[in-house]
Amino acid sequence: MSSGLPIESLRAALRQAAQHTRRLVIQAPTGSGKSTQIPQYLIDDALVGDGQVVVLQPRRLATRLLATRVAHERNVKLGDAVGYQVRFEDVSSPRTRIKFETEGIILRQWLSDPQLKHVSAIVFDEFHERHLYADIALARALHLQQTVRPDLMLVVMSATLDIDPLCDYLGPGSVALTASGRQYPVDIQYIDESVGDRTDAIVEAAVRVCDRLIRQTDRGDVLIFMPGAFEIQRTVRALQSADASRDCLILPLHGELPPHEQDAAVGPSSKRKIIVSTNVAETSLTIDGIELVIDSGWARVPRFDPHRSINTLFLERISRASADQRAGRAGRTAPGTCVRLWTEREHQERALHEVPEINRLDLAEATLGLSAAGLPDPLALPWFECPPARALTQAQRLLGDLGALAEDGSITDLGRLMAQFPVHPRYARMLIAARDFGCVRQVALVCALTQGRSIWATRGRTPGQRAPRERFGEAADSDFFAQMRAWSYAVRHRFDVRRCREAGVHAAAARQIDQVYRAFLRLAESHGFALEARAGDDAALCRCVLVGFADHVCRRRGTGTLQCDVAHGRRGMLVRDSIVQDAPLLVATEIDEIQTGREHEVRLSNMTRVEADWLTELLPHAMHEQLDIRYDVATKQVIQEIHYQYHDLILATRPGGAPAADAAAHLLADEVERGRIVLRHWDAQVEAWLARVNFLADFGADYGFSAIGPTERRLLIEQICLGCTRMKEVAQKPVWPVIHAWLPTGLLPVLKKEAPERLAIAGTRTFRLHYPEQGTPYFEARIQELFGVKSIPMIGFGHVQPLVHILAPNQRPVQITQDLAGFWLHHYPGIRQELKRRYPKHAWPERGEIA
Ligand code: ADP
Ligand code: MG
Repeated sequence: MSSGLPIESLRAALRQAAQHTRRLVIQAPTGSGKSTQIPQYLIDDALVGDGQVVVLQPRRLATRLLATRVAHERNVKLGDAVGYQVRFEDVSSPRTRIKFETEGIILRQWLSDPQLKHVSAIVFDEFHERHLYADIALARALHLQQTVRPDLMLVVMSATLDIDPLCDYLGPGSVALTASGRQYPVDIQYIDESVGDRTDAIVEAAVRVCDRLIRQTDRGDVLIFMPGAFEIQRTVRALQSADASRDCLILPLHGELPPHEQDAAVGPSSKRKIIVSTNVAETSLTIDGIELVIDSGWARVPRFDPHRSINTLFLERISRASADQRAGRAGRTAPGTCVRLWTEREHQERALHEVPEINRLDLAEATLGLSAAGLPDPLALPWFECPPARALTQAQRLLGDLGALAEDGSITDLGRLMAQFPVHPRYARMLIAARDFGCVRQVALVCALTQGRSIWATRGRTPGQRAPRERFGEAADSDFFAQMRAWSYAVRHRFDVRRCREAGVHAAAARQIDQVYRAFLRLAESHGFALEARAGDDAALCRCVLVGFADHVCRRRGTGTLQCDVAHGRRGMLVRDSIVQDAPLLVATEIDEIQTGREHEVRLSNMTRVEADWLTELLPHAMHEQLDIRYDVATKQVIQEIHYQYHDLILATRPGGAPAADAAAHLLADEVERGRIVLRHWDAQVEAWLARVNFLADFGADYGFSAIGPTERRLLIEQICLGCTRMKEVAQKPVWPVIHAWLPTGLLPVLKKEAPERLAIAGTRTFRLHYPEQGTPYFEARIQELFGVKSIPMIGFGHVQPLVHILAPNQRPVQITQDLAGFWLHHYPGIRQELKRRYPKHAWPERGEIA
């Protein structure tokens, strides 16, 4: 039977390609029939084995709707030959041949069936969305196909994909099939004035534009894109009270709605429809009859939140590529109109494409999943785009902190258990601890509280009103207790906006927290965890927070300060408004890095008090003893201590006995070099001696002389310090024994001869020789002391003729020379006249009388 859809044109080509390849890329515009038809072709044309055709979907909502549609087309009962599976819901049976499922599901199935024996084909639908799990699934599927499942058919589909990189990735054997669809022109309009990012303003603008559009024309249904359930609800309510839309059917469409409401939105209607949807209607679903699109330009995007080190949803501006997809929805059945709720200038500032999840998400959960599947090295997989190395390292460190990976990177039993939970490993760890401590309900609520936005209302508090934390939190061991009370309050008042606002509680946030809380409870229950509290004491909860945020442990730097050291070499300041008072050791669930001008401030908030004993008990893998040896400036000595540490946080310290002599000498030598310890006996004579040795280093290498540079000096100082621990001892230490011992035995006489301390001249007189660092050694002599001397003896194994500084009676040099004979002959007669005039009382013999 022909469906009449554009994808029909590819059916023959698909049949042919399947005869020689197991890797297909299919590109066709949204609405062409990819999602509903391709899986059917694979089965009906017998292109794959008789296992399942698994169709991976990025969204739960589309998963169910597509399965329903295909079951309907094939006239079978949903869950029989055609089924679907999403988190918490499995509508399939062993007879199911076409199974739609979300990307996370197949990764879980992989855990129990590593070769995916029951699967004949995997269809990666909407691959352009580049969800992290789709990337992982494709890399693993390719790996599987390359190793043990060459028969496994892989089909990668997308409306917008740039197919060349994908074909390159899949290799020369892959085949790409492209179909063009029907697309009518869409008139794209921008608004003149920016609406900003406040929900109220966005909703108001959407309603205003909708009003105008449905007045302008009476044909075509309207599709309004809003970021999430909350904004959709607001828009629907506003539209219901608007004039023009009175005769229309106003329908929300998002994943949290009950199925019959979702069906209503995509189903046919006799009235004109206004559908207010998340980006599920962007490419995943096709709703017939849409001719008018209003795009808020926003989406809820999962992204790594460095404050809590988890992935969470952020409200973000969609890219231009996404906006084009949304606009295209207006032109499927007739020419259409799309109004963008942003200005044309703002459009130019938008990103071209979305950043793939693999580049913006925390990879801890994914890494744990791969480890549990026996793939501890993620980089060994054939990725379409490699995960960033930094994110992988971070993920592995966190998994180590949580006890899921051992030091060698292998998965632990705890890690294996954690991997069974389809939540971030932090929450898996906390729930497992909660089971052990009997506080599952409380911990499920804490998990929910950390995951969404804050339960505290920041806007709309009237002056003089008590801060919410004051109202809900008398001093306690965790800020979560105040938040839990606030949540109970909201539940008690049925999330009533007015009552909540009065109490400083954000009603919508509380409602969302409530939903997440219930999801966590369902998850715990599905693993057979008892929900009744056993322990019920506050400490049990605090312990669970500790194991879930083991990398966020803080130690106060002292009593009365808000400054803390945070595990892994970080530092930060506690916020003041915590209800946890004076705890020396805490977990800060939130770590905010704030850039204030040039300052970089780290703010720690959402505190829970923990005990050092708990660290030892619950996180033994991170505890260790560290020997610390250092020079203590206060007591002026080297001391040795043993620190009991949690990672790099010091929890306790005890004396560590006598330090090793060489380590102590090393530290003392540092102090000497810094000038904080002075060696009394290291005087000018020592320096002169070293200078003589250095002089001989140039000529006496054959004898065993070598230069004493900075490194050798350092060794000499360390030797002098050896055996000491206190500054006092070092300062008094004799240095000559060490200095002398530096020269190899037997060289001392050679030094005395070839680099003499004093130079003997004409048999009687001796002069002190100076050995400058650069240049020739020299001595100083008054001119009268040199009468009768015609030459200077050589030193340095006969290589060096020392210089003489010839001094007048006033000690000023009149000449510097090596050549005394020449001096007497050429210079002395002139100098003599001058000296005779200035020093008439001295005797100044003629040249002939001297030489
Ligand atoms: P693609 O995956 O290429 O975007 P689909 O296979 O999802 O296309 O849809 C193909 C066509 O099937 C749509 O244009 C629409 O007309 C029809 N269709 C799909 N799902 C439904 C549904 N749940 N109800 C009614 N029609 C549907
Ligand atoms: Mg599709």
